[in-house]
Amino acid sequence: MVIIHWFRQDLRLSDNPSLFEAAENGQVLPVFILDDRSAGQWAPGRASRWWLHHSLAALNDALNGRLLVLQGDAAKVLPEVAVEYKVDAVYWNRCYEPWRIQRDQQIKKALRNDGLEVKSFNGSLLWEPWTVLKKDRTPYRVFTPYYRKGCLISEPPREPLPVPKKIRCVATTSKNDINDLDLLPAEGFVPAHNPESAGEAKQVRWDHNLYAYWCKQGRGVGETAAKNKLQDFLGKGLNGYKVGRDFPARRNISKLSAHLHFGEISPNQVWYASAAAATDSNVETDLDCFHSELGWREFSYYLLYHFPTLPEENFQPKFDGFPWQDDPEKLTRWQKGLTGIPIVDAGMRELWQTGFMHNRVRMIVGSFLVKNLLQPWRHGEAWFWDCLVDADLSSNSASWQWVAGSGADAAPYFRIFNPVSQGQKFDPDGDYIRRYVPELSGLPDKYLFAPWEAGDNVLYQAGVVLGENYPTPIVDLKKSRAKALEAWQAIRTQ
Ligand SMILES: Cc1cc2nc3c(=O)[nH]c(=O)nc-3n(C[C@H](O)[C@H](O)[C@H](O)COP(=O)(O)OP(=O)(O)OC[C@H]3O[C@@H](n4cnc5c(N)ncnc54)[C@H](O)[C@@H]3O)c2cc1C
Repeated sequence: MVIIHWFRQDLRLSDNPSLFEAAENGQVLPVFILDDRSAGQWAPGRASRWWLHHSLAALNDALNGRLLVLQGDAAKVLPEVAVEYKVDAVYWNRCYEPWRIQRDQQIKKALRNDGLEVKSFNGSLLWEPWTVLKKDRTPYRVFTPYYRKGCLISEPPREPLPVPKKIRCVATTSKNDINDLDLLPAEGFVPAHNPESAGEAKQVRWDHNLYAYWCKQGRGVGETAAKNKLQDFLGKGLNGYKVGRDFPARRNISKLSAHLHFGEISPNQVWYASAAAATDSNVETDLDCFHSELGWREFSYYLLYHFPTLPEENFQPKFDGFPWQDDPEKLTRWQKGLTGIPIVDAGMRELWQTGFMHNRVRMIVGSFLVKNLLQPWRHGEAWFWDCLVDADLSSNSASWQWVAGSGADAAPYFRIFNPVSQGQKFDPDGDYIRRYVPELSGLPDKYLFAPWEAGDNVLYQAGVVLGENYPTPIVDLKKSRAKALEAWQAIRTQ
């Protein structure tokens, strides 16, 4: 029996339920299809494409070059491949994005009509969205009861599966080149906020920074890299995670989000490996907190499944009348990390340079965009979609709506982060700001978070000229906060 295992967001060999069953039942044709057409506006952004390229290369190596890499509308491509290779069955692990659910249902029906066996499995979630409901059979809208009363008291997550003992791959006849997918950027450009390259005509391919960050320092992309990163985190980061996870300069976070998004590692593997590593009772609260963050990932998928308009529409319709003040110039300064608010600029530059941003800082830059600058949350969502290597439709849209106050279980709109005190609290030594905003590195800690409060002499000694080598603040923090609250009052009383 010849079985296609259709790789999607499960780019790994271990704990892969569909691949495992395919390998048990017959000869396997491992297939990946880049289907931008079906994805429409949610086709992977540029940073995700970069990651995907390297992830597919790693997977192909693990399969001894047997991965069949194709491009096009999966509804057309799969039946063609099935005929070409005389396939009897098609297996895959389920995905939960609305466009994928719709497409996969159609494909399932069409393949079955053609006489093929079609099976789908859960390879990406600890609890699938339809298995956790309130007593009245409606979905939860608040995280804590969803996670504590819904997930944790239901069936424990499935235990991870090993790599199949033997994968007998079908020999493929077509040319199999990941480069043909054109996932890597062709042209370079100069990042406008990079002081080293400003003013020079030199072309810098932006993905070189990503490569240096993830592949040289970060030990790579793909299943083996994900497993190594998990082990590093369990050894060095889990102890102290609950507190340390909020400090962007500390090493208490796992940085597994992109590996999880592309399925290079499963949440089940992360869940059970972390539980096994936390043998010391001191680590219990850290483990509980780490598991609940995996729970937030689950909750995001849950929301997207039950409320499929989450990426496009306010979860709370009262936000439909919110008086956003679209301002392309403000948006561009935010995107480039040139707002004049150091912790915000550090975060936006971390994103640009590495394709990643620390969670605490994601919340700070998000609040600043939506509240202090009154820009629609969808602009932030779109920029993150393009720049994050972990861009994930569920977590990105749920988190942006959470930050904006329009989402499920969201931070109330009137809770507006003060980026100065957030910086002082969570980057007390200024290490994070100094790393990404080096032009401020000479400032004493006292002024690093709000350079506009420093006197001329302090600025001079630090080599900072506001408005010249570092911007003056784009908005007054107090006034913009008051304006945001006014805007909120306007929809509250509607
Ligand atoms: C505005 C905004 C946008 C975001 N966009 C994304 C996105 O596109 N993709 C994405 O994976 N995460 C997103 N997040 C959630 C979170 O910031 C990242 O998952 C986290 O920073 C990844 O770092 P880590 O792997 O070191 O996390 P860790 O702290 O090590 O946590 C382990 C895993 O738990 C999950 N997780 C942790 N925190 C959250 C959270 N708040 N929501 C959902 N899952 C979480 C991730 O899968 C993460 O890898 C966003 C958050 C905000 C505020």
